[in-house]
Amino acid sequence: MKKLFGVIGDPIAQSMSPVMHNDAFERVGIDAYYHPFHVQPAHLSAAVQGMKAIGVNGFNVTIPHKAAIIPLLDRVDPLAKSIGAVNTVVWENDGWTGYNTDGSGFVRGLQEEYGTSLEGKNMLVIGAGGAARAIYYTLAFEGAGRIDIANRTVEKGLELLNGCPVPVEGAAFSVAEAAEQLEVYDIIVQTTSIGMVPLTDESPLPVDRLKQGTFLSDIIYNPLETKIMREAKLRGARVQSGLKMFVYQGALAFEKWTGLTPDTKRMEEVVLNQLEEKNVNN
Ligand code: NAP
Repeated sequence: MKKLFGVIGDPIAQSMSPVMHNDAFERVGIDAYYHPFHVQPAHLSAAVQGMKAIGVNGFNVTIPHKAAIIPLLDRVDPLAKSIGAVNTVVWENDGWTGYNTDGSGFVRGLQEEYGTSLEGKNMLVIGAGGAARAIYYTLAFEGAGRIDIANRTVEKGLELLNGCPVPVEGAAFSVAEAAEQLEVYDIIVQTTSIGMVPLTDESPLPVDRLKQGTFLSDIIYNPLETKIMREAKLRGARVQSGLKMFVYQGALAFEKWTGLTPDTKRMEEVVLNQLEEKNVNN
C-alpha cells in the first residue's frame, strides 16, 4: 500500500518540501506520496488525530505549528524539547515522536561549505526566533567555542541563552552593539526574516566592520542571495544561503521516516529548479 507523508502549516502553498520529498521517494523506489496540508491553528489537534486515524507514516511541521504541536505528541526527542520546536514527526512504537532536524540540517550544511572544524570558532547568531534557537542549541551540542546572539529584542536573545541545555560561552547583544564588533567573529549566522521576500531590500545590520574571510551563512533561501550576503561578499566574506539547511533538514527527516539516505545533491537541484520556476512565474 502507498505510504503517506506530508507537511502541515499555515500558509503552506509556498512549501518546497512536497516536490523535494516526492522526487526523493521515487528515486529510492519507495511507493509513497508527500502532501502539503493547510492546517489552521484552531484545527491543529484534530489534524494530528486525523493523521493517526488515516495511517499517515510521518510529517513535517512548519510555521506556525512548530511549538504548539509539542503537547499533542506522544514523545518528543530531548533536543527538540529543549529547542521548544518540532519540525519532523515520525510514527514509531504506536505513537507520534517529534524531532527537530532544523539545527542538525543547518550544522551539516555549514560544515560542508565551511570546510574546517567549527571547534574554537567565534560565532554570532543574528535573530532569536525558532530557527535561531534550533541552530544555537545544536551548535552548542556540537561543542562550538563561543556563540553570541544579536536580536532586535535583546530580552529574547537573553532568554535563548539562558535556556541553552549545554554550557557554552556567549552573550546577548542588541543588533547595533553586535554591528560595532563584527570583526571578532569567524562565522555569522543570519536567522531573521529580514532579506526574505518581501523584505529583499533590507539587511539586519551593517557589515562595515566585517573581517576578511569571515563566513556568513544566511538561512534564507528565497532569494538565494540576500542583501547582507551581497554586502558581506563585497567586504571579502565567504557566504552561504539557506538552501543547504533546507535540503539537509529534509534529508534528515527522510532518513527518520525511511531509514534510507536520500541523494542530497539531487534534492538541491529539485529545490533550485522549483525556486527558478516560482521566480519566473512571479
Ligand atoms: P521567528 O521565530 O518568527 O523569528 C523571527 C526572528 O526575526 C526574530 O529574531 C525577530 O526578532 C526577527 N525579526 C523579524 N522581523 C524583524 C524586523 N523587522 N526587524 C528586526 N528583526 C526582525 O521565525 P523563524 O522560524 O526563526 O524563521 C526565521 C527565518 O528563517 C525565516 O526567514 C525562515 O524562512 C527561515 N528559515 C529557514 C530554514 C531553512 O531550512 N533554510 C528553516 C527555518 C527557518 P524579535 O525577536 O525582535 O521579534
